Amino acid sequence: MEQIAGKAVYKGIALGPIRVIKDGGCQVRRERRKDTEAELARVKAAGEKAHEELQRLYEKALKEVGENNAAVFLVHQMMLEDQDYLESIENIICNEQMNAEYAVAVTGDNFADMFAAMEDEYMQARAADVKDITDRLLRCLGGQDGEDYDFSEPVIIVARDLSPSETVALDKSRILAFVTVEGSVTSHTAILARTMNIPALIGVNIDIDLLKDGTEALVDGFKGELLLNPSEERKIQARAEMEKEAETLALLMTLKGKEDVTLSGRKVNLYANIGSISDLVYALENDAAGVGLFRSEFLYIGKKELPDEEEQFAIYKQAAQNLAGRKLIVRTLDIGADKQAEYLKLPAEENPALGYRAIRICLTRPEIFKTQLRALYRAAVYGNISIMYPMIISVEEVQAIREISARVKAELAAEQIPYRDVEEGIMIETPAAVMISDELAGLVNFFSIGTNDLTQYTLALDRQNAELEPFFNPHHKAVLKMIRMVVENGHKAGIWVGICGELGADPLLTEEFVKMGVDELSVAPSEILRLRRIIRQLR
Ligand code: PEP
Ligand code: MG
Repeated sequence: MEQIAGKAVYKGIALGPIRVIKDGGCQVRRERRKDTEAELARVKAAGEKAHEELQRLYEKALKEVGENNAAVFLVHQMMLEDQDYLESIENIICNEQMNAEYAVAVTGDNFADMFAAMEDEYMQARAADVKDITDRLLRCLGGQDGEDYDFSEPVIIVARDLSPSETVALDKSRILAFVTVEGSVTSHTAILARTMNIPALIGVNIDIDLLKDGTEALVDGFKGELLLNPSEERKIQARAEMEKEAETLALLMTLKGKEDVTLSGRKVNLYANIGSISDLVYALENDAAGVGLFRSEFLYIGKKELPDEEEQFAIYKQAAQNLAGRKLIVRTLDIGADKQAEYLKLPAEENPALGYRAIRICLTRPEIFKTQLRALYRAAVYGNISIMYPMIISVEEVQAIREISARVKAELAAEQIPYRDVEEGIMIETPAAVMISDELAGLVNFFSIGTNDLTQYTLALDRQNAELEPFFNPHHKAVLKMIRMVVENGHKAGIWVGICGELGADPLLTEEFVKMGVDELSVAPSEILRLRRIIRQLR
């Protein structure tokens, strides 16, 4: 048994086989290959290997989980032989003279996107199958043996680091836990793990090149440790703890439907943070009163091109409808720094966190911004949408936003397209915005404090850098004083003030936030009922 310490970003326990994602494992290189015949032969051989793997999986599943559940592997075999899919791969290899990996990856993406865009829910769900067979084919092309790693089984993902787009791309239903060597508590990977209620450890000092897929491991998010080949005793203990945790969760579930009010009658709005429409399930399961932060940039990353107005409109509309009148606060595109989309061709920067990102991109590339705003105002007809702008540092920025949004609404009106005016607020996540929050308060309907960035900019500590952990004090007085100041300035102007950074979920601060007068806490869905329990016991 080997024991390695790490920092837990989601408290939970997982036991199962590990799957190592080696550096660059999720990336496919684009290379020119003149010998197209050789590339076609490689695809053929990989296809045969994948077919055999699927046959073995089918037979195993037939014994273990029955015919109905095993059928998926037969479907995958058929998809591997689909004429359109194979023709697309061949065309890219022959016409563009590209390597087999690139041809398979591009074809997989195109087909998955095509399925995902279909009206029919069943067909939409096929996008995941296309991804699955494409991943299998890519693995077989890389000469990796798929035998030890049975992707039909849930696994503990171990990686040096995972980018937000890699995390988003992973199939969550098959992930027991995340373990990364790098990362920080407020990195987006950690945030995603928390949203999905997946135990996760960061800063685990382990040589991933020496790890083998399939090794049994235990991730303990309470103690903050990873155990490789855990002893029987530890496994029994872990199972008992998992049961206990399940009981605690069941108890928390009894708080569903209860109000978020203190014993002295103060109401706090407990909302959820989400990164995609599928996260709404977690928000609703945990009885969020609304969504306080929809990180819309996740609609933009991991794609080949900008999502167009219709695509965005459909997503915002569906999210608003699913929330059935509850508030949906959509944050406009906050891309840049650690969240990249290749097609935007953002320049490489010395200091990306201080660079060209978020509202700075929207204001200098208004065509991108306007598309998103059009989609949002149109979707607002179908529910209770609010819009929130990130990374604000000046009054002028807010004025520029207002000019653009007024133009967008005028254009929609002229085109006779239905739209609705919405509540609009800004994130307070820079020290500059804190210091002028008295002026900003008069221009907007609400403030939402982004403590992740506010802490990074106030303490001059890069939120991505695990090395800085010893210097990181989330309860730093400077940050708490800033929050107090923003609440006071907001209330003076008669607007509500919330917190949507990770600090909002810190149970040690809930009482202090309520005393400061914070009106809303928007947190990972898994934290909502824990906070409800605290709030309902406060005086
Ligand atoms: C924040 O900075 O606190 C925040 C909520 O935004 P993000 O974590 O997405 O930067
Ligand atoms: Mg932020």
